[in-house]
Amino acid sequence: MKDSCYMIHLYLQKLYTFFTYFIAPPYCLFCKQSMLERQALCSTCLITVLPIVPYDFHIGRHQDVKVYAMAAYKDPLRKLIVAKHFNNAIPSWYLAKMMCEQSILQYLEFDIIVFIPLHWTRYAARGFNQAEIIAQEIGRHTGKPVIPLLIRSKKTQFQASLSVDQRAANLNNAFSLNPKYQHQIIGKKIVIIDDLFTTGSTVKAAAQLIFLHNPLKITAFVVCRVVS
Ligand SMILES: [Zn+2]
Repeated sequence: MKDSCYMIHLYLQKLYTFFTYFIAPPYCLFCKQSMLERQALCSTCLITVLPIVPYDFHIGRHQDVKVYAMAAYKDPLRKLIVAKHFNNAIPSWYLAKMMCEQSILQYLEFDIIVFIPLHWTRYAARGFNQAEIIAQEIGRHTGKPVIPLLIRSKKTQFQASLSVDQRAANLNNAFSLNPKYQHQIIGKKIVIIDDLFTTGSTVKAAAQLIFLHNPLKITAFVVCRVVS
């Protein structure tokens, strides 16, 4: 019975792939070249995505966050990160899948996954949160819980237009912790998920709050890190 269900599932999957191939043929999200299989990037673009070494981010006395990134912030991943158009979460789903396929993930030690939230007004305007989509996919892939620990309590300006000092000030009191979940982080290894690590002020603001509740360790896993 189990075998026949599996065969039907495989058959339906093949049928679905066959029809969607003609209705919406797969193409590379960066160079638009058509592809045989539905994935984010063609093989030519994919080989330009090179791993970078983890970064030890010192955020306070005895408080360090190791930051792992899939690659440096440049194309082709940059294009997928900025493609956050209203209600089109497809590039984000592809990024999430790529993050799950990363060998880094096997070496990351964590008990709980948290993600950098958007302010509700921005969430409403966009329809999704890229960091949350990635966190949920990593959760499914690893079987580890994703908790909505962080709350964006202040609508901040877009960080990209600000200097390092302005970014820190912009994020002052931007986050709070959801009291429903904060007891769960005591003594636990936490991984913070975000799409982009630029100066680190977002991860710093979030980690400083989380450190107040005595986690064992905090790491960050982002799609891209800006490398100067
Ligand atoms: Zn391509």
